[in-house]
Amino acid sequence: MMTNAYAWIDQSLATIHKAGWHRSMTTIDRPGAIVQIEGRSFLNFASNDYLGLAGDDRLIQAAIAATQTYGTGSTGSRLITGHRKLHRELECAIARLKQTEDAIVFSSGYLANLGTIAAIVGKRDLILSDQYNHSSLRTGAIVSGATTLNYAHCDLQDLRTKLTQQRSHFQRCLILTDTVFSMEGDLCPLPQLLDLADEFSCMVLVDEAHATGVMGKTGAGCLEHFGCTGRSLIQMGTLSKSLGSLGGYVAGSTTLIDFLRNRAASWIYTTGLSPADTAAAIAAIAIVQHEPQRREKLWQNVALFKQLIEQHSLELLPSESPIVCLQLPDIETALRVGQTLKDAGIFAPAIRPPTVPTSRIRVTIMATHDREHIEQLATSLSCVV
Ligand code: PMP
Repeated sequence: MMTNAYAWIDQSLATIHKAGWHRSMTTIDRPGAIVQIEGRSFLNFASNDYLGLAGDDRLIQAAIAATQTYGTGSTGSRLITGHRKLHRELECAIARLKQTEDAIVFSSGYLANLGTIAAIVGKRDLILSDQYNHSSLRTGAIVSGATTLNYAHCDLQDLRTKLTQQRSHFQRCLILTDTVFSMEGDLCPLPQLLDLADEFSCMVLVDEAHATGVMGKTGAGCLEHFGCTGRSLIQMGTLSKSLGSLGGYVAGSTTLIDFLRNRAASWIYTTGLSPADTAAAIAAIAIVQHEPQRREKLWQNVALFKQLIEQHSLELLPSESPIVCLQLPDIETALRVGQTLKDAGIFAPAIRPPTVPTSRIRVTIMATHDREHIEQLATSLSCVV
């Protein structure tokens, strides 16, 4: 008798449960520093909405107006029927923010990484990837078919060793790195990494998902933060974190962007970004550029949190961003601390393997948190750990 072809899924799921790796979703009413979960109010320290723009009325009104003008869907790929004036407006706004010649928007940051990496390297090429890079960079590397080696987290000596040993065996070489590491909150050593890439004639793709709108004086990201604006590299990012919308982008030279329009399968063969998401992102970029006080408030909140945590003698992973992680010994402790915080009205869930190598509570600070919110978090953390 034939066995049920899908029975393995039950077994696999049981293994996931047994390892303590099973994930479930939390229903949140709407974005904000305070959110409702199952009818209860929580301080939200788990959102990527760093500037508090996802609920901003100007983004909402822009999305409504664009929907009224252009309809709900883009109806086709950008190269067939899905291209609107609005898309180009957004791409020009991104290029201005990033100070690059041009930009291209994808349906998500994940797809931007997949499509771009697979377009620029292939099986004769080498990828060197930080071991803690985001899943979309790692999956992009697999999809590309290039030989991929991980280097130790932010370890330029290890990167140099691998380049010295391997570079000459391959045609092109691409270095992949997050600029702000999403599950740690630390930064890649960008200026030195770019120097190393020049020395070994490598391309560099940086993932600015958590840097866009947050890092740098004008919110342009880590190139601005490190004084590297104008250097040759490929910058990707997302519209879904501090820009409060949905979609991904790649910013770079005119030729790179034109090349991606012709070679990035995850852009060519998918429907253009919705008018609502596109318009919301345009409105968000204008706010990022015209309201630096939001970024200033965000950094004040980050400084306050770190200062309070130090007073309570809690140990944090090194962080230079609004992502701050409290390292915990194991999955059980992380889940217990996450639940105790939740009981105290604080939403800052445990992040655990396989998402990250070690269990932790990951806190993200927002510009829209008040001083009392931050104080409450620090006090609660000091009581439960
Ligand atoms: N890169 C990083 C570092 C991310 O954190 C994320 C989102 N979790 C992405 C890429 C993917 O972006 P998006 O959510 O727009 O697909």
